[in-house]
Amino acid sequence: MEMLSKHVYLDNAATTPMDPKVIEAMNQVMMEVYGNPSATHALGRKAKGVIESARKSIASLIGAQSKEIIFTSGGTEADNLAIRCAVRDLGIRSIITSPIEHKAVLSTSQEMESDAVSVHLVRVDDKGRVDYAHLNELAEAHPHSLISLMHANNEIGTLLDYHQVAEIASANNCLFHSDTVQTMGHYPIHVADFKADFLTCSAHKFCGPKGIGFLYVNSNLRIKPMITGGGQERSLRAGTENITGIMGLQKAMELCWENMDEEIQQITALKNYMRDKLLQEVPGIDVNGETDTNGSLYTVLSVSLPPTDHNDLLLFQLDMAGVCASGGSACNSGAAKGSHVLEAIGHPTDRQTIRFSFGRFSTREEVDIAVSAVKKILSVEQPV
Ligand code: PLP
Repeated sequence: MEMLSKHVYLDNAATTPMDPKVIEAMNQVMMEVYGNPSATHALGRKAKGVIESARKSIASLIGAQSKEIIFTSGGTEADNLAIRCAVRDLGIRSIITSPIEHKAVLSTSQEMESDAVSVHLVRVDDKGRVDYAHLNELAEAHPHSLISLMHANNEIGTLLDYHQVAEIASANNCLFHSDTVQTMGHYPIHVADFKADFLTCSAHKFCGPKGIGFLYVNSNLRIKPMITGGGQERSLRAGTENITGIMGLQKAMELCWENMDEEIQQITALKNYMRDKLLQEVPGIDVNGETDTNGSLYTVLSVSLPPTDHNDLLLFQLDMAGVCASGGSACNSGAAKGSHVLEAIGHPTDRQTIRFSFGRFSTREEVDIAVSAVKKILSVEQPV
């Protein structure tokens, strides 16, 4: 791919390049399936068939029922749907979340705060790990809350112990929502194991298209639509369906599940290779977040560079060297604002953080180029 040969792309937590097989499947739908899925004629029925078969396939991959999958425009909408509907339709009067959630959860929760709805932030430590004793205290003090905690943090990669959260939620009659945007497609997520009421997915994080995702909603819950209009998505999300995107989401998920074990091994090895290389070759560099492999998302490596007098320029210099990485989260990259995640874990402000993130198409060669670029920027002597 020309794009990949020109740039070293280590920003897969922001978004991934699409898998050519996904593009192929989408192209076919674009060429052949143009009927409106709500139309009753043959072409409409064909389009409806594509959507329902995608729903069935996606649901079966995560062990859900088809009716538990609501297609959305991506992760942000799915997070909004879960949180807003929990408050509006399910009698939730308090939300327990963490200060390191994605803004789609944090801002939406804050937006819900009112005289009637309280928001409580669970403590996290300096590696972004949830304080489960505190979570328990909060849940006991506020039974029947919505607990919204992300499976993996998009900036530092720290993973949630969702079994503990599900137990605490169940003991206190709470609902459990998990933003699984960074983990869906990367781990064999199964709803019977996760025991969450809501799970959020976004296709562009695992080689699918942008602008499509879904919310898994446990079938015991009755929510109403956030977007009203026609009766699409069993009246839970109005608007003519993004059939091409849905096809892309299905294909991307199927490819992930087919190759998951090999991909986990391959990408974990790449992350470890880069981590070790940076730690060996760049004095003063530190890894952010959980360092234990099992507690950390294998696609994300966040590091703190040693302080320099040109911290602000480091990411820009990396960009000039042809290396795409991120300073904070995707949504914040390009914005001068500091990261709320790094602030919440007490990250020193005199050090620049760079998030390298890996995907299906990442290579050792790319890692080597990126590490050389970091050394050059920091003026670290090349070994003789
Ligand atoms: N949640 C997390 C953890 C994310 O990393 C992102 C994207 O960066 C989102 C939600 C938003 O997803 P989308 O881009 O599909 O709206």
